[in-house]
Amino acid sequence: MTMQTIAPTNVSESEAYRLQAQQAVQSAAFFSLIRYRLQTKRPTLLQVFLVMSLMSSFSVSAKTTGCFDNKRFCFELTPSSSSLYLVSVQRKISFPVALTLYSNELFQIPSQENSLKPLFHANAFLIKDSAIPLGVIEEPETFWETMRVKWTVGRIDAKHDNTYTYLSPLQPASEYSIVQGFNGSFSHSGASRYALDFAAPVGTPILAAREGVVIDTKDDGNKGGPTPDFAEYGNYVAILHSDGTTGEYFHLKYKGVVVTRGQTVKRGQLIGYTGNTGFSSLPHLHFAVYVAKFHGKYVSVPFSLADTSF
Ligand SMILES: [Zn+2]
Repeated sequence: MTMQTIAPTNVSESEAYRLQAQQAVQSAAFFSLIRYRLQTKRPTLLQVFLVMSLMSSFSVSAKTTGCFDNKRFCFELTPSSSSLYLVSVQRKISFPVALTLYSNELFQIPSQENSLKPLFHANAFLIKDSAIPLGVIEEPETFWETMRVKWTVGRIDAKHDNTYTYLSPLQPASEYSIVQGFNGSFSHSGASRYALDFAAPVGTPILAAREGVVIDTKDDGNKGGPTPDFAEYGNYVAILHSDGTTGEYFHLKYKGVVVTRGQTVKRGQLIGYTGNTGFSSLPHLHFAVYVAKFHGKYVSVPFSLADTSF
């Protein structure tokens, strides 16, 4: 029997889908804009007055907190000695995050006054709930306007358990051919070198390849296509494993995720349905095991499947 095979070149994707979907680069100013738009929807006179009051008070006392990714973590400015503010970051959800803050306004925490040294960026591995000091700034408003953050969920110190044998996430495995494997010449190179693409009709049930805790999901993307412009629409489930790696399932259909962030899942449990969202021109599931890095980066690790050879 000849199984259906599809040329790898039909699968169009790259690392960009992951960078744009999960390690989004966003600024606090962007979040302020969204909040403002929500406030001014159907404005009444009272609301307009309130918004104007808020805006005028904003210019007097600059905001001290900026949160990201549905309050996964928040930056805090604390007035420090002689017109400096301490910048710290604290996770609000008890999952590990590797993040990098970029700011030309950021300086090393001075051991003595008047000796500010520029930092440009600072890394923080959020593994505990306590706040982590990153540096100091002088001008809060400029800081919020220009700061950028990149982050990756998962542990930077993960050591993959190479003895673990993963369940093929589409069952029965023999019905879903791998159209791009490890080192696939089309897009499985670099950080996604050890990824697998399974061809599957939209709506195929996806089972957890390994047990863990759901650390991130997205299923509101409703577009897919063969260019990087579509990357932001890619739906996914990311599961944190006991060894600190994450198992990540991409290109799920719109509203095709059936688990929630924080949920514990067993090996073989239904987590969602395949689709063709994001940077993808062919209905398929992209599955890989990743280790988080700073600067919004990550690296895939080789793994073995119980029921498929590739
Ligand atoms: Zn892939």
